[in-house]
This record gives sequence, structure tokens and C-alpha cells, in this order.
Amino acid sequence: MTYSVFFQKLLTKDQVCCAIITLNFVLQWGIGVAYKFKCINCGDVTFSASALKYQKSKNCEKCGGKIIQIFPPLKLGEILLELESITKDQLEQALAIQQRIMTHVALGKILLRLGYINQSELEKALKLQQLE
Ligand SMILES: [Zn+2]
Repeated sequence: MTYSVFFQKLLTKDQVCCAIITLNFVLQWGIGVAYKFKCINCGDVTFSASALKYQKSKNCEKCGGKIIQIFPPLKLGEILLELESITKDQLEQALAIQQRIMTHVALGKILLRLGYINQSELEKALKLQQLE
């Protein structure tokens, strides 16, 4: 192998590397790909330029499981709504209580106290929140 061929190969490899890094960067930081979703059944991750795509169809194309937005991360209340653990009214009620309490109390604790969710629902939602 001559040096010029060696450097040619090196350059090509570098360019491929660079392309992969750029692609990852675009996927992760959302240059045109602002939303990241994950199927909570099979774990399939999908990207989308808009959240709208999944507002009508919230099921995984592969397994039909439920898809949840993981980036930008959802708030706990939004995840519980997605999971249909609570209703919008219940969330608003809990948020109103949270605002009235002078010291900060986690929303999950308030929902637990109100009896709207149970411990396992809370843990499931917290896990989903940490997927990113
Ligand atoms: Zn799936």
C-alpha cells in the first residue's frame, strides 16, 4: 500500500465518521428533528419533526404498543395523562393544590394523597420520565 492510498483510505474513514457524528448530532439535538418518541411496549425509538404526527396515532408501527414522547421530556402530570392514569380534571386539581402549598411538594405525592394514582402507577411514570 502506498502512502497516498493509505491517506485516501484514512480520509474516507474520517469522512464516514464525521457523517455519523453529524447524523447523531442531528438526531439528538433536533436540527429539524425536534421530538423523540419511545414505544413503552417494545422500546422502539422514533424521531419526528413535530409532535402532531403522534397526536392522532399514538401506537407503535412495529408492535402497536403505546408511544410516549421522551424528548423534550414530558412533565410527570403529562405522562400520567398519556398513560390514562389520571384525567385532565384530576391533574388540574392536583396542580391547584400544589400552587396553594407554600413549600414545594412533588405532584406525584399530591396525586397519591388524593388517591388518583397508586404507588406502582407513580413509579411507572417516573421511570418513563427518566428514559431520555
Ligand atoms: Zn412497539
